[in-house]
Amino acid sequence: MTSVKDINSWIMKTLIKNGLIYDGTGDKPYEGDILIKDDRIVEIRPSDDVGNSNQLGYSGEGWSADFVFYADHKAVTPGFIDSHRHCDIAAVADPNFGEIELAQGITTVLGGNCGLAPFPYIEGTGQQMLDFIEPVLGKAPEWMKYASYPEYMADLEAANPYINVGQMIGTGAVKTAVKGFGKSPYTRSEMDKAKGYLREAMEAGAFGISTGIMYIPECHSTTAELTELIKSVAEYKRMLTFHIRGEGDSLVSSVEEVLSIGRDAEVPINISHFKSVGIENWQQTIYQAIDKIEEARASGQDVSVDFYPYTGGSTTLMSLLPPSVQETDIKDTLRNISTLEGAKLLKKEINRKHDGWDNTALNIGWDRIIISYVTKPTNKDFVGDNIQDLAHKNGYEDPIDFFRELLIEEQGKVGVIQMSMDQHDVDTIAKLPYSMVISDSLYGNADSPHPRLFGSFPRIIQEFVYKRKILSLETAINKMTQMTAERFHIDRRGTLAVGNYADINIFDPQRLKDMASYKKPKKLSVGLEMAFIDGRLVWNDNKITKAYRAGAIRHK
Ligand SMILES: [Zn+2]
Repeated sequence: MTSVKDINSWIMKTLIKNGLIYDGTGDKPYEGDILIKDDRIVEIRPSDDVGNSNQLGYSGEGWSADFVFYADHKAVTPGFIDSHRHCDIAAVADPNFGEIELAQGITTVLGGNCGLAPFPYIEGTGQQMLDFIEPVLGKAPEWMKYASYPEYMADLEAANPYINVGQMIGTGAVKTAVKGFGKSPYTRSEMDKAKGYLREAMEAGAFGISTGIMYIPECHSTTAELTELIKSVAEYKRMLTFHIRGEGDSLVSSVEEVLSIGRDAEVPINISHFKSVGIENWQQTIYQAIDKIEEARASGQDVSVDFYPYTGGSTTLMSLLPPSVQETDIKDTLRNISTLEGAKLLKKEINRKHDGWDNTALNIGWDRIIISYVTKPTNKDFVGDNIQDLAHKNGYEDPIDFFRELLIEEQGKVGVIQMSMDQHDVDTIAKLPYSMVISDSLYGNADSPHPRLFGSFPRIIQEFVYKRKILSLETAINKMTQMTAERFHIDRRGTLAVGNYADINIFDPQRLKDMASYKKPKKLSVGLEMAFIDGRLVWNDNKITKAYRAGAIRHK
């Protein structure tokens, strides 16, 4: 018997034999062998197609290898890539980071999504920013105060996580660093400062720029301001990802807005967690939004979308507060709504539709909004229940009063799951040839996180390939590998090809399963037999080997 330690310290040549190779391109699978030398794939030999083998790098000579793994006709795929995890803090601070991901076959992740990030940390606004992102990214340790993208990356490199971790720069975090959560537009000098942060991140290898136009402070930004900011780094041609302004009533105009930003700034864009929220919008608005995207694509614009395989979303309870009751400082907002007058105003504002802002509580109802994260031990019992039920159980006549008091008591640090989507809409998006798979994982130390944290990628295969037969397996894998690697320029990953890094999964597709549900969300996925990163065995026998640390990656 060879131990895992031996395998990784002595690695020279590794042979994966008799696999059913899904190479990530979306092409039909073929039986074959893969030879790995050090961290790269050096040869791929189809077992029944010698005539076609030159282009695949077959030397025609006999192969020798130090280690041979028999795939027994199971699927051999590229390591999955999740470009949308809110893992910025976890990747640096959690020594076990990578296990939840590897169980799903995810070997590469990107953080810094939706405009949110724990940096740039500036004295004065920094703590408020960390409080604001806590339900999404988790609690930052006391020592975590990165002044810039390069500082963060240096620590990520030192943490050296078990999987590949890249990072984007969030324009929401940048705006907060430059001017706090205020409503006013950038002044000339503030705009220059913000541009400086972006440029610095581009130079240091950021995989993209993310915006969170739905969140404070960017919900106060105009299209023109966002365009000017992005235009300043257009020359880098990095992906610009959007958490758009509204995903409900204003979905179509919000999509039009980001299309125009991409067009005017001349950068490739991606719409994050593309969806249609709100019961009245189901099976309608999404088609109008798709029409807009396809018109843009037909005219030559570079646009993609991504989605996760659930009908429930997850966000902060603060995001349900209408902008009309939000102040520059979160503390002021909470102080205002704690007065009699403020409470009255809130009730009025949350019971009406707003121009340019989607009122999710009104659109889906309090019974579809489930508490998933609180900080106070006395509130822990709320987790897992919806706001309507909680209000009744706790003697409130109007759920808005419960909502308001919880926000005040928790100082805004509440996470929620919103059952806001329609399955048919999600399926429609899954079928789009330009949609990628993501998880949108939140790392708020939730007792009850959204199950997408533990299960998104296997769930795509179980639900969309086998159960509802919406995608072929090769198409699903393409959406989890090559498509993402190409969009974000993740160097030599995402396909099984000669010269690429040997990031490889081996599994029986019928058995790779998500176990996490809304009721029991913290369950690792099962069924991944082996995973390799850079040619090293990182997952074996249903567990992480911890024998190799893949570490930070940068845009090249
Ligand atoms: Zn988002």
